[in-house]
Amino acid sequence: MGNESKEQDQDVDLKINDRESDRISTSRVPIIIWIILIHSEGLIFQNIYTLLPLQSILFSLAMILHVLLYWHVRKVLHYCSWFYFIIQGGIIFSSAFLLPESFPIVLTGLIPVLIGQSIGVYYYAKKVVLLFFSFYLLFCSYIIWSHDSKNSVLFIALLILIAIIVAAYANLFYSQVNARIRTQNFLNELELAHQKVEELTLANERQRMARDLHDTLAQGLAGLIMQLEAIDAHLTQGSSQRAHEIVQQSMSQARKALADSRRAIDNLRSKSASEVDFADAVREEAQRFTMATGIRTALDIKIKSSVSRLLIEHGLHIISECLTNVAKHSHAKNVWINILDSQGIISIEVRDDGKGFNPDIIARQAGHYGLIGIHERVRLLDGTIQINSTAQEGTAIKVEAPLTKGDIA
Ligand code: ADP
Ligand code: CA
Repeated sequence: MGNESKEQDQDVDLKINDRESDRISTSRVPIIIWIILIHSEGLIFQNIYTLLPLQSILFSLAMILHVLLYWHVRKVLHYCSWFYFIIQGGIIFSSAFLLPESFPIVLTGLIPVLIGQSIGVYYYAKKVVLLFFSFYLLFCSYIIWSHDSKNSVLFIALLILIAIIVAAYANLFYSQVNARIRTQNFLNELELAHQKVEELTLANERQRMARDLHDTLAQGLAGLIMQLEAIDAHLTQGSSQRAHEIVQQSMSQARKALADSRRAIDNLRSKSASEVDFADAVREEAQRFTMATGIRTALDIKIKSSVSRLLIEHGLHIISECLTNVAKHSHAKNVWINILDSQGIISIEVRDDGKGFNPDIIARQAGHYGLIGIHERVRLLDGTIQINSTAQEGTAIKVEAPLTKGDIA
């Protein structure tokens, strides 16, 4: 637990470091002017009392190094933040040591600035207080060691006062920066979430398009191929009358497939479902199926409640896919379609007396998307599906879904 929070602290430290050092970099100029002012003041003050040319040159060099390090603060902080404060602290103390008369000016002028920077880098009280006390102790021992006791008390109090003012200002400044960073992070997260939602919506839309393409175009074409094969067989046997009838059916089937595809495209554009009565639509579908395949269809439709557009759309596609499968795979003679609603649940069952199949083996075979599409539609309806199939007896596919799903048509 302790370790965790420490890691977290470091984590936040690092995050703030990167951005804070940016902020420090942009606010470098006023601080550099301040350092130059302290430097000039130190030089003048010292040389008025005692001329120290060599020490003055060394002092200037130390100040140049101090400014250079400060200018490249971002890189140094990235490398190691403690290193930066130790080096800068060392430069300030040793340069103060070079000019005995001006050292109170140098120390009281520059140490609070360094403490202010530490607030920007660490932001967390513990490290800042530690740094402050280290510098303050060094400062006090330095003053006591090198100065008369009367002035020492004054300087010690002065450093505290200046440090408090700078720390308060830095705290205000960096808390604002911090708030801005948090807002920025929040906005970035929001942007990411937005992108995610868009991706999911697109994926959903792609699935819908694939399903609609299968259910309209692919299924329509499969039906037409079956009819063309039948026509071919009849023509070969010379029964042109029957072939002619099937051509008529094929034409109506092709028109229906075209209308379905157009509706699917319209749905993609406007997302509005077609305004059809569910029972009528199922009857039409069954009629077309019997006409095209010669398989008898018995309907039992008892719908008392209104059916939502979503249910109509998915229900019709499910029935149409089941019928296509009966025609393509089952060799059935009869199909029964039972639809009824009771206690808020609509139940749709398509049963045939064909050869049957093993749903467990067939499930999710590559290249076969009809049953997968049915499952997907059932999922979207919050419904359930049952496939009961027995070899040589037939298949029954039963879908149940809540009537409340989707808007009411
Ligand atoms: P496709 O029709 O493209 O083959 P489906 O997912 O619709 O794909 O069906 C998968 C398989 O399930 C079919 O290839 C067929 O073997 C079997 N199947 C589906 N429905 C029936 C059915 N009513 N009677 C017999 N077999 C069926
Ligand atoms: Ca199919």
